[in-house]
Amino acid sequence: MINPVLPILFLLVVSSASLAQKSAERQFALRVSVDTLRNHVQTLVKMGNRWGGTPSGNRSARWVAATMKRYGLTAEVEQDPQRLVYTHERWTLRVVNPSRLRRLIRNDWLAGFSPSLVPTTALLADLDVDNMDLTGKAVVTDRLVTEDLYEELAKKGAIAILSFAPGDSTIYPDWAMITPLPASQSNAIPLYNISYRNGSVLRNELSRGTSIRIALSSRTVIKEGAPKTVVGRIRGTGAGRYIVCAHGDSDAGGPGADDNASGVAGVLEVARVLSTMVQTRAIRKPVHTIEFVVWGSEYYSSEHFVRRQGEELRTIRGVLNYDQIGTGATRNCIYFEANDVPHNKNLLSILNSIGEQYAGRKGFWQEATTNPSQGGTDSYVFLPEHLSRLDAPLVLIPSVTIYTAAWNTLRRIPQTEGWSSKAWKGPQDTVVIDFSRYYHSSRDVPELTTEREPFNMVWAVKAVGISLLRLAWE
Ligand SMILES: [Zn+2]
Repeated sequence: MINPVLPILFLLVVSSASLAQKSAERQFALRVSVDTLRNHVQTLVKMGNRWGGTPSGNRSARWVAATMKRYGLTAEVEQDPQRLVYTHERWTLRVVNPSRLRRLIRNDWLAGFSPSLVPTTALLADLDVDNMDLTGKAVVTDRLVTEDLYEELAKKGAIAILSFAPGDSTIYPDWAMITPLPASQSNAIPLYNISYRNGSVLRNELSRGTSIRIALSSRTVIKEGAPKTVVGRIRGTGAGRYIVCAHGDSDAGGPGADDNASGVAGVLEVARVLSTMVQTRAIRKPVHTIEFVVWGSEYYSSEHFVRRQGEELRTIRGVLNYDQIGTGATRNCIYFEANDVPHNKNLLSILNSIGEQYAGRKGFWQEATTNPSQGGTDSYVFLPEHLSRLDAPLVLIPSVTIYTAAWNTLRRIPQTEGWSSKAWKGPQDTVVIDFSRYYHSSRDVPELTTEREPFNMVWAVKAVGISLLRLAWE
């Protein structure tokens, strides 16, 4: 006969454990500070584009490490190998004549790896009309400046290129998509990325026979530099670890508030709240160490981290990567990627159930879903295909990215079979990926992204914090 007291005791123990879990999750959510997140983004953007290995990137790494230490974490700065890096110190671009166009150019950007150009003036030519003799002229085009086109225009004597690619009135209407040149010290002429509207006005004027003279200059430094990756830790009692990470640079070279100061702010805020909860004994020490990593340079630094880890990779139980958690043009949705990777299943199931459980609650997302691989961010470096390219041990590390926007326009992609979310409001067989109007642009600034809808960062912090409370304490 079964002792009737035992099952009751068992139930009591189980329910008090889940009550403690619920209470920890509630406390975590209550402690997330939207103002701290906003301030972090502002601070980072003021430092410049934080490209790894540049003075701006070094300053950002020092600040991230100091902030982690202030939160009670141990923090180390790991130096990645040197690579060619680029800094712009200043540049000018304006119309001199006719005077009615003088106020035209405002939200434009000098493309990365542009060479220096002493202040000068030049006549403007339209690439599609007058591409024979470009000697001493600046050229305006809506084409994407490929390596071939760049070489061709430099060879024809152009002194600068003004590109308003993608030349689409519906995206980047008043700001510029930034398209860095190849990393090289021998690029011949500067490339300025300008807005659709400015490009169209300039080209229309030229087609009417207006003679346009522009003034331009650039002062840039292109040299070797070592990106710095910051690794902070909340130590666990066991041998396993989870990584929470984000790329610290603005990969396009613009202000990069959403992409990816928002992600860095998210990493720091998860660290702050968990560390405070451990220090104040609201929760005990985690079983698994939690590492908070800010990559000096997207992909490059995560790849070198993997190389440095070697066999240590085996202790990683999961990677939670933030990339673009600061905006979302059309939906109030949080996304968890990538569900087409079989060994991501457990980690993503936990995020998916958190997504469903908390959707619609005050201070949380309206929608949540997992989605298949789109590629292009640091979580992919930890997957077997990439590990084999790096000659790293082929371990199956669950590795996911959490975000609220991707790319510069809406994308519809088929949902992975077997996956669905009660918190997704669209058809279950399709995921619509929300986007940023300011993706890789001159206007990816706090005022237009993280200041407008700072709640995106709050959601991402809560999703990762709550998932860690379920994973790293078990
Ligand atoms: Zn990014």
